[in-house]
Amino acid sequence: MMKSIETFDFKKKNALIRVDFNVPLNDKYEITDDNRMRAAIPTIKKVLSSGGAVILMSHLGRPKGGYEEKFSLKHLVKHLSKLTGAHVKFADDCIGNTPSEMAKALKPGEILLLENLRFHKEETKGNEEFASELASLADVYINDAFGTAHRAHASTTIVANFFPENKMFGYLIAKELEALDKVLEDPKKPFTAIMGGAKVSDKIQVIENLLDRVDNLIIGGGMTYTFIKAQGGNIGGSIMEEDKQDIALDLIKKARAKNVNLILPVDNIVADKFDADASTKETDIDQVPEGWLGLDIGERSTIEFSKVIKESKTILWNGPMGVFEMEKFASGTKSIAIAIAEATEDGAFSLIGGGDSVAAINKYNLGDKVSFVSTGGGAMLEYMEGTKLPGIEAIRG
Ligand code: AMP
Repeated sequence: MMKSIETFDFKKKNALIRVDFNVPLNDKYEITDDNRMRAAIPTIKKVLSSGGAVILMSHLGRPKGGYEEKFSLKHLVKHLSKLTGAHVKFADDCIGNTPSEMAKALKPGEILLLENLRFHKEETKGNEEFASELASLADVYINDAFGTAHRAHASTTIVANFFPENKMFGYLIAKELEALDKVLEDPKKPFTAIMGGAKVSDKIQVIENLLDRVDNLIIGGGMTYTFIKAQGGNIGGSIMEEDKQDIALDLIKKARAKNVNLILPVDNIVADKFDADASTKETDIDQVPEGWLGLDIGERSTIEFSKVIKESKTILWNGPMGVFEMEKFASGTKSIAIAIAEATEDGAFSLIGGGDSVAAINKYNLGDKVSFVSTGGGAMLEYMEGTKLPGIEAIRG
């Protein structure tokens, strides 16, 4: 039986929590976006308020394998005490005597933050002995870092083996899984998935897995053009993957066989160069002139996509409809975000995931108008592909 953070007795126990404190720092080592830290607070506070002590471990950036000042977690100590209201101690290494002694001396209600796990190469290698040293600091292990759950690292996966009875998910991961499982296992119909972004190759597995579940599959963004070219359309200089055309045709065939309504854009905004100040015009999707490139969906497609979205009861969105970073090509993405928010207001369950669609939904301030915004990125995509994530299995198994 899997343990739950909700009911576990943390009294006088040290809880080792894998968090994702991979926050951006400026050149004065100030935190420029503390979202990831704030997201971990409910789990931390739950342990503290139930009479336990907290030991936090995380990675920060991509150190080369030894100490680097700019990747030290010591820069987070002050802000962490402010966010938690607790006394935060810092161990300048994550293994060895220092953390071991500090962990032993830790009192209920206190937090010990360990130095960046990735200062040791053993972390990403999933080294058993390194994991056992981390495990020796605590009585219970909590994984609350969904973004690294698809990696079999020491702190995300291997360490769990040392807590056969006392391992569990934190609130963040538990909520992610609940939202993802709701969409994958028990979607209310009609279920519409909207896939966008630059490349088909990143999303083939997800699309394949979704074809068994969705009623409508909307395709937009740069990946559109591989489908259009494969069907004989003129795509000018639009982005496309030559060697993925067969797969695109195969997906169209599979969708038909499974009775999935696969919807491609019928028109688009084309530009004479990849530039915020480019000249633009609207054309049919398969009539992009030579020397022009399609950078956003057109008006008719936007209307059609929005209509399908608004009739849906479950919506999954991954990837923008165009180059939304430039104002001239943001309209399709913005309209889709609004349609999803409206459908949600009418009772649909909407899940937004993948870095760029999350950035888009936040850009239009619609983050709280959708049901769930995944922090997962790569982990979320892998889960959507139907892949078992090592960090999740280590707790569930
Ligand atoms: P992804 O990380 O695969 O979700 O891709 C996101 C990126 O795709 C964004 O940076 C968009 O600017 C880009 N993108 C979306 N539509 C297009 C397009 N039609 N042509 C080129 N890039 C695009």
